[in-house]
Amino acid sequence: MAGILAAIKLRDRGIECDVFEKGDGVGGTWRENTYPGLACDVAAHWYTYSFARNPEWDSLMAEGKDIRAYFQRVAHDFGVLERTRFNSEVTELRYREGAWDLACANGYEGRYDFVIAATGVLHHPNIPQFEGIETFKGAVFHSARWDHDVALDGKRIGVIGTGSTAAQLATALVPRAKRFDLFQRTAQWVLPRDNVPYSEEDKARFRKDPEALEALIRELRAKTLEGFATAVIDVDSPELAAIEQICRENLDTVKDPELRRRLTPDYRVACKRLVISSTFYDAIQQPNADLVTSPIRRIEPTGVRTADGALHDLDVLVLATGFLVDRFIRPTRVVGRDGIDLDDVWADGPLAYLSVSVPNFPNFFLLNGPNSPIGNFSLVEVAQHQIEYIMQLIDGIRCGEYSEVSATPEAMHTFEAERCEAARKTVWVTGCDSWYLDKNGVPASWTFSYDRFVEETAAPRMEDFEVR
Ligand code: NAP
Repeated sequence: MAGILAAIKLRDRGIECDVFEKGDGVGGTWRENTYPGLACDVAAHWYTYSFARNPEWDSLMAEGKDIRAYFQRVAHDFGVLERTRFNSEVTELRYREGAWDLACANGYEGRYDFVIAATGVLHHPNIPQFEGIETFKGAVFHSARWDHDVALDGKRIGVIGTGSTAAQLATALVPRAKRFDLFQRTAQWVLPRDNVPYSEEDKARFRKDPEALEALIRELRAKTLEGFATAVIDVDSPELAAIEQICRENLDTVKDPELRRRLTPDYRVACKRLVISSTFYDAIQQPNADLVTSPIRRIEPTGVRTADGALHDLDVLVLATGFLVDRFIRPTRVVGRDGIDLDDVWADGPLAYLSVSVPNFPNFFLLNGPNSPIGNFSLVEVAQHQIEYIMQLIDGIRCGEYSEVSATPEAMHTFEAERCEAARKTVWVTGCDSWYLDKNGVPASWTFSYDRFVEETAAPRMEDFEVR
C-alpha cells in the first residue's frame, strides 16, 4: 500500500524510481493475507488514497479480496507495475559517497539517490515454537500463510490466538467446520460494529458526486478520531469510558455465564488492539465451537494437548499468533553514514524521528515506520501524510539546497522523550501485554493526538534535520 503510494508520488514529481518487491505481485498485507473471513475493520472509504477514491465499496468495511483488488487496480492504473521489479528481495542498502548501493537476493545491484522503505509493520509471522508441532499429522500453518489446498468443510479446525485475525477466522470457519476449537491465552475486548451495506443508489451518488464521497470520508474519519483516537491516549477520557461501556454491554450478550466469564478480559478496554466484530460472540456460542482456555502444553500427532490433560483432536491447526512487529525493513541490512548499521542502532528497539527519518541514515525515509500511528486508523491516510512530508525533504535535494538530509540525533531524542512521556497517559500501559508494547514496555506507537500527527507531518522543521 505504501510502496504503491510512494511510486505514484515520485512520478507526480517527475522523479524516476524503481520499486522493489519481494513477492510476485503488489498489495502487501492484502496480498499475503488470504485467510477465510479476511476483512478490514477500518471504514473502506477512508482506507483509500485521496487521489484514487473508490465509490464501489459494497459496505462500510470491505473484504480483503476487494481491498487487494483495489490496490492492484491503482498500481496498474497509475503505472506502478511497469516500474516494479518483482521477486526482488532487497538484502542490503549501503550509503557510500552520497548515494545508496542496493543489492537484491537475485543478484541485481543498483545505486540510488534516496531510498523510501515501505516494508510494512505486520509482515513477519510470529510462529511460536510449540513443543511437538513438527509431529502434527494434520495441516498446520500461520494465518498469513494460508494453505488453500487444505480442505476445511466438515473438518475439525483449531485456531490458536484471539486477536483480530482469530475473530474473523471464527466467524468464517465455525459455520464450515465440524468442530472449531479456539485456543485463547488472553481474552479480548470486542467492540461491535455493524457492517452497513452501500446500496447501488449510494454508489451511483458517490460516482456522480465526489464531494458527497469526501463528505462521507470526513464523517467516518471524524467518528474514529473523536471517539477512539482520544480514548486510547487518555485513560481518564469520557471517550474511553464510552467505549468501555459498549464493550461490556456487548460481552453481556454472551448467554452462558461460564463462557462469558472466560471471555472476560482482566485488563482495560483498548489496552490491546480492540477486536471489532459484531459476529465473533455469536460464532463462539455455536454448539460446534469451543473456547479452550486451558494453556497449550504441546502439540501431538492428532491434536493439541492442554494443561488440563485434554487432547483436542484436529485436522487443521491455524496459528493466528500475530507478527514480529519490530522488524520494519529488517532483515535487509541497512548501513548508513560511517558504516553505522541500522540493526545496531535499533538494538534496543526501532526508533525514527517522527517515524520517517533516522539520524546518520541520510536520504533514507520510512513509511508507516517505527511509532507511526497504528491501531484502528487508516494506515493509507497515515502513509499519505508521511509521503508528503518526505517529498518536501526530497524537494530540498532536487532544488540543490542540500544533497543529504537526515534527522539530527538531538531531534530524535527530544521526540522520543516526549513520546515516552505522553505514553504514560495512554491506555496501552494500563496492565496488559500486547504487540503495541516494545521490550521495555513502552508503546511502540504514536502516543500523541492524531491532530498532532497531522500538524507535525505538514512541513519539516528544518532545524531538526542535519543537512549537508
Ligand atoms: P495479534 O493481535 O498479535 O494476536 C495474536 C494472538 O495469538 C493473541 O491472542 C496471542 O495471545 C496469541 N498468541 C501468540 N503467541 C501465543 C502462544 N505462544 N500461545 C498461545 N497464544 C499465543 O495478531 P492478529 O490477530 O494477527 O492481529 C495483528 C494485527 O493485525 C491486529 O492487531 C491488527 O492491527 C491487524 N489486523 C487488522 C485486521 C483488520 O480488520 N483491520 C484484521 C486482522 C488483523 P496473547 O494475547 O496472550 O498474547
